[in-house]
Amino acid sequence: MYAAAFSARRVRAFHLVSKPIRAFVACNVGSTPALSDSKFINLSTVTKKDLETVITSWGHPRFRADQVWNWIRDKGVTNVEEMNNIPKKLRQQLAEYSKPTSLELASELRSKDGTIKRAYRCYDGQLIESVLMPYEDGRYTACISSQAGCAQGCVFCATGQMGFSRQLTADEIFEQVARFAAESQHEDVVHETKSKQHGRSNRLSNVVFMGMGEPLANYRHVSTAINRITQDLGIGARKITVSTVGIVPNIRKLTTDPNMPQVRLAVSLHCATDEERDVLLPANKRYGGLDELMGCLREYIEVTGRRVTLEWALIAGENDTPETARKLARLIQKSRLRKDMVHVNVIPLNPTGGFGGNPSDRKRVNDFVNTLEKDFGIACTPRVRRGIDIDAGCGQLKSKVLEKELQDTRLKAIVKDDATSESKMMIGKEFTYDNAINIEEEDFEDPEFNDELSKAETARLLNLVKATTIDLSKLDGQ
Ligand code: SF4
Repeated sequence: MYAAAFSARRVRAFHLVSKPIRAFVACNVGSTPALSDSKFINLSTVTKKDLETVITSWGHPRFRADQVWNWIRDKGVTNVEEMNNIPKKLRQQLAEYSKPTSLELASELRSKDGTIKRAYRCYDGQLIESVLMPYEDGRYTACISSQAGCAQGCVFCATGQMGFSRQLTADEIFEQVARFAAESQHEDVVHETKSKQHGRSNRLSNVVFMGMGEPLANYRHVSTAINRITQDLGIGARKITVSTVGIVPNIRKLTTDPNMPQVRLAVSLHCATDEERDVLLPANKRYGGLDELMGCLREYIEVTGRRVTLEWALIAGENDTPETARKLARLIQKSRLRKDMVHVNVIPLNPTGGFGGNPSDRKRVNDFVNTLEKDFGIACTPRVRRGIDIDAGCGQLKSKVLEKELQDTRLKAIVKDDATSESKMMIGKEFTYDNAINIEEEDFEDPEFNDELSKAETARLLNLVKATTIDLSKLDGQ
């Protein structure tokens, strides 16, 4: 029956369907073989075309696919059992061959200000983060990840301190947004905002690529995901912000790419001289320094007619003085960026364990903003740090989840069965919080020990000790 339903017309249209779904349908037409996990349909990310192909291949009329699609996209429902206008047989088939999601929730924290921060575990164990920020008027902004880890190495960033693991797929990026979009419709899941109390509905209206990873270093998947966010979730391109550290070649690509929707561009600037920016953001040197970056932003503005946001994390005593604000204004002038096409966003630094900088106080923030606005006529908005009580800065929740896992599994740091160093290094013993906290850095500088152990291994162990000791107090409080 299934084979008959899979008509010649459908075969002709089959090439429009995604590769995984072609494989899925091919192995399910005329039979119901046991499927491996990877062959389940992910209802959070399935495209309408793919859904139609699967459902019609099972012999159901096309409008059933429309009904299922409405449940998923209009009502935010991926639990098949709740789809009460769908025939029982189709529900059974969907229940057997689909999953509501593919990213597994590893941890979730909720801030007093309503911010929700999540760590998701991908199919291969990678942890990524997503944040949902509610606003008083019922809108929500999702801050999502584009990579597992990050190779850019910005020194103040918890993700940068972890290094790069892999690119996220377009589906993994899209699912982070789709889940928040679905859940923001259900008041039991998200924060009760004032607008909801006043009768207006909550909805996900904005997306920012400011989570883990550098989106322009994963251009292809980010571009595909953005197209799906605009088409399937109905979020306008102007409501989507791609934030980059300044990957100049891909800013140029984005400027003229007909396949990239007209998203907003934000650039993490943070410093107004190459000397300072090279230290804070190593990508500065890699992509030709500030001249190159500001030049390509000028081209972007001229070609697209769109404004650029310059992001500035205010670090106390480092880049938060009126003099620094003047340097920034002069950089904008020297680079011939139109003042009305530039907007500076300042936000006090979100402190991380691996960087000693502190957030600027209110006075410093105000002085910085006033210098840019009053002295130079450059629009500047101070931003509020969201979810500060739940470490909502990118990479911070992942660190916590990893620390907890270290604690839970009582990770064994068995290096070498060496009796001479055993008393100091606990070699061959189980590595636990209890014995980790007493180890000092100097223990790792034992020349005898270093002779026998590579420097890299020494560094790895030292990091392990730091990772398991720094946040003990925070962990205790959870
Ligand atoms: S700030 Fe962004 S680009 Fe820099 S290391 Fe962190 S995630 Fe990567």
